[in-house]
Order: sequence, then C-alpha cells, then structure tokens
Amino acid sequence: MKVDQIIMDLDGCVYLGDHPINGSPQAIKKLRDKGVKIRFLTNNATKTREDYKNKLSKMGIPVESNDILTSGSATAIYLKKKFGETNIYPIGGKALIEELSREGHKIVEWNKADFVVVCLDFDINYDKLLNATRAVMTGAKLIATNRDPTVPSENGFMPGAGAIVSAIECATGTKAFLVGKPSKVILEIASSYWNFKDNVVMIVGDRLDTDILAGNEMNWITVLVLSGATKIDDLKKENGQKMKPKVIVRDLLDLANRWDEILKNLGE
Ligand SMILES: [Mg+2]
Repeated sequence: MKVDQIIMDLDGCVYLGDHPINGSPQAIKKLRDKGVKIRFLTNNATKTREDYKNKLSKMGIPVESNDILTSGSATAIYLKKKFGETNIYPIGGKALIEELSREGHKIVEWNKADFVVVCLDFDINYDKLLNATRAVMTGAKLIATNRDPTVPSENGFMPGAGAIVSAIECATGTKAFLVGKPSKVILEIASSYWNFKDNVVMIVGDRLDTDILAGNEMNWITVLVLSGATKIDDLKKENGQKMKPKVIVRDLLDLANRWDEILKNLGE
C-alpha cells in the first residue's frame, strides 16, 4: 500500500488551541520525508487560510496557504461553482467574510441576502440571530459551513458552529445545507481543488462523526487520532460501520512512527 495524499484535520489533531499536540511538527516532517503530500482541511472557519498558514508556521510546520482549506473557503468555492457570485448575510467573523469575498460573493444586509452562511462567531448576539431568522423566513437559503457541536481547546470544549446553526434552525424550522465534514461536499471540493484523481488518499482526524464518517463515505483510508475530541471509551460505544476508522493511533507522532507497519497492515 502506498499513500499519495494525507488530508489532515487541525483542531485536536495537529494542535489544541495554540499548543501543538505532542510531537506533531516532527510527525508531519517525518511523513513528508516519506514522500506523502500533506494537506490541511478544517471545519473551523474562524480563521483564513493565511491565518492558518501563519499559525502552523509558528509551530514549526511550514505550509503554503493553498494547501489549506477551511469550511469557510470551501463554502465560498462551492457557492461560486453552483450559483455564481451570490449575496450573503454572514454569521461569522472577519475570516469568513474574507473567504467569501475572495470568491466574489457580496456581503449584504439580511433583507438583500440570497444565502445566510453560518460559521462559529465569537461575537454572536441576538440581533444576528434575528437577522438570520428573518432572511431565511423570507426566502434566503441557510448554509452551515459546519455543524461541529464543540471545538476542543486547551481549556476543554467550547460551543461550536453547530450550536449557532441549531438556534437558527430552531427559530426558522428550516434545516441548513451542510458544506463541512461529514458532508461529502467539502471532500469533493477538496478533491477537485487539489486534483486528487486516482490518488490514494488518507484522511486523519479526531472526530468520528465528521472526519471518519466523511472519509469512509469517500472510500478514503480513515485514521482516528485519540488526541482530540474522541477518547478510547467512545470507541467502545456502538457507532456503526460508517464511523469506524480503518486505523487508530494515539496521535500524529504515533502515526508517523508506525507508518511502515500501518501501511503493511492495510495491505492492498
Ligand atoms: Mg478536529
């Protein structure tokens, strides 16, 4: 078995908050030295690709910004492909607005919006929920960049974009269209953006209900790291085949150290 591409999750996989997880910069270097191309894909749209590039570089992980996709940038690319340049009322910070604008979308008031795009917004307030609700009730489509219930941090879990999406769904009675993991949409965007074609792709992440579920849907090799949202006890619960990872490792360093053995076990 030879793996050409690794798609790597960030939160809970490469770092927790601002702290790299045990040996992750060395692990990434080791994997690159074995000839594997590494790309980063995060559901977290609170930063731009350039922000993530800088964050990773500071941790000793050099990367180009076009080797990073967020659920924000993937949403911008998806909407452009499907509908052209659109009018959007965003719930999210500067990073979301920057990613949407980069693809030519216009940021507008709620009553001019064709789409409400939601990501984790640290400045969420009642007015924003009200505007989003009004927009959706008058015909705008509700798009969730992701619906992660939580984001792991060095101080425990924080409420994620999913908590905000749910509030708008509750008010409007409308189910959001999901772009981020576990939706195949983001993986198909990633596949064409990075031109995977016949490549053997491995996806590495810390969540069964996003990284692993989406990767299995794509028939990619799924690798669970136990350094984030999923603990060993969670695996004992009945999660079904769809959320079953092909490979389980402690963290990225464990994956890099056991690389040859893991590939051998994967066989053909
Ligand atoms: Mg994660």
